[in-house]
Amino acid sequence: MPRASRSNRPAAPLHWGPSGGWIEAIVGSMFSGKTQELIRRLRLATIARQKVQVFNSRLDTRYAKDHIVSHDLHKIPCQAVAKARDILSQVGQDTQVVGIDEVQFFDDGIVEVCERLADEGRRVIVAGLDQDYRGVPFPVTCHIMGVAELVTKSLAICSVCGNPANRSQRLSSSKKVVEVGSADKYEARCRRCFIR
Ligand SMILES: [Zn+2]
Repeated sequence: MPRASRSNRPAAPLHWGPSGGWIEAIVGSMFSGKTQELIRRLRLATIARQKVQVFNSRLDTRYAKDHIVSHDLHKIPCQAVAKARDILSQVGQDTQVVGIDEVQFFDDGIVEVCERLADEGRRVIVAGLDQDYRGVPFPVTCHIMGVAELVTKSLAICSVCGNPANRSQRLSSSKKVVEVGSADKYEARCRRCFIR
């Protein structure tokens, strides 16, 4: 390839050769716009007439199960699955782009599933929380970030001081690591305003 065209390449992800798949991870706290960004990328692919399929976990029951919905109520149709491996049997042969929302709700198998889909030449776009309500990283999300070609860290705005925020403060006293909820149960906090 001539030098000139190589230097004109965008950063990552690059171009989609005959065998080129990859993984994009969009991670951050609650209210950081992760799902919105996922929906935006999937919409662009749809506009380009690429075949897109979207999955989420049956655990995420905040809104409708047959759509993923961002906090600002943008939505896109999706298939809810119980286990990560179920995605493999539901992805169509001709599907080019696979979106996965709230990846932290899935079992460990999701990492292998994403890798396999990318190895098969698909673009895999994953969104999820990187830390739980205690500020502890979600192992599944971290693993995906490790193997992804492109990682986007989304920041929210701290509800207390207005600085960039990357933590989700739980406002209720429940001790469950995964508690499904939104504005009434959590708010975004920065490092300084977050209370463990
Ligand atoms: Zn703050």
